[in-house]
Amino acid sequence: MIDAIGVSKEYRRGPSAVGALLDVSFSAHAGEYVVVNGASGCGKSTLLMALGGMLRPTRGAVTVNGTDVYAATTSERAAFRAGNIGFVFQMFHLVPYLSVLDNVLLASRGAHRERAAALVDSVGLTDRQTHRPAELSAGERQRAAIARALVNEPPVILADEPTGSLDPENETAVLDILASYHSAGGTLVLVTHGSAALTYCDRHVRMASGRIESEETP
Ligand code: ADP
Ligand code: MG
Repeated sequence: MIDAIGVSKEYRRGPSAVGALLDVSFSAHAGEYVVVNGASGCGKSTLLMALGGMLRPTRGAVTVNGTDVYAATTSERAAFRAGNIGFVFQMFHLVPYLSVLDNVLLASRGAHRERAAALVDSVGLTDRQTHRPAELSAGERQRAAIARALVNEPPVILADEPTGSLDPENETAVLDILASYHSAGGTLVLVTHGSAALTYCDRHVRMASGRIESEETP
C-alpha cells in the first residue's frame, strides 16, 4: 500500500551534496509491520520522511495505494498526511505548554474529548491526562505521542526511533502498544538503529549507506 520506487535523495549543502538515499525501492503492504534498521546515518529517517510525504525525493516516486504522493499539491499532500499517517518520533515533539489530553486533541480532526481520553487511557496514562510533557517521564511522553499519532485512526504509522530515548522497560511498553496497533490491522513502518523491535515485526529490512542491503522474514 505504501511504496517507494527507485527513490534517491541528495541533500545539497552549497557546492557539496550528500547522497542519503541511493535508488531505494521499498514497500509495506496493508497490515504489515516492517522494521528498517541500520547504522546511524544510513538514511533511515530520510526514507521515512519521504514515505510520509514530508520530504520530496530527488528522484523516484512514493505512492500510497497507487497515488503518487509528490505529484499532489502541497495542500493535498498535507490533507493526505493528516488523513493517512501517524508519525512517532524519538524526541516525541509534544507541545510543551499543553496537557497530554490537549496534545492529543490538537492533532485530531474532529475527535471528541471522550475519544481522546479513551486513547490516553489505552496507552496507560489515565492519571496523567492533565500533565504537561515536562511533568512526564520519557516513556510517558512517548506513550502520549503514540496516543496523538492514533487519534485520527491512521491506516499507517511511521515511527522514527520511537524507543531511542527509553529505558528497556519503557521500550517494551511502547513496542507493545505499537504491536497492538498492528494486531488491530494497522500498517507500521518502524526505523531504528537498534534491534528490540525485530522480535515484533513481519519483515526486517536492513539498510547501509543509503541502500537496502537485505530483507528477511523472521
Ligand atoms: P539515519 O536516520 O539513518 O541516521 P538520516 O536519514 O538522518 O540517517 O541521514 C542520512 C545521511 O544524510 C547522513 O549522512 C546525514 O548526515 C545526511 N543528512 C541528513 N539530513 C541532512 C540535511 N538536511 N542536509 C544535509 N545532509 C543531511
Ligand atoms: Mg534517523
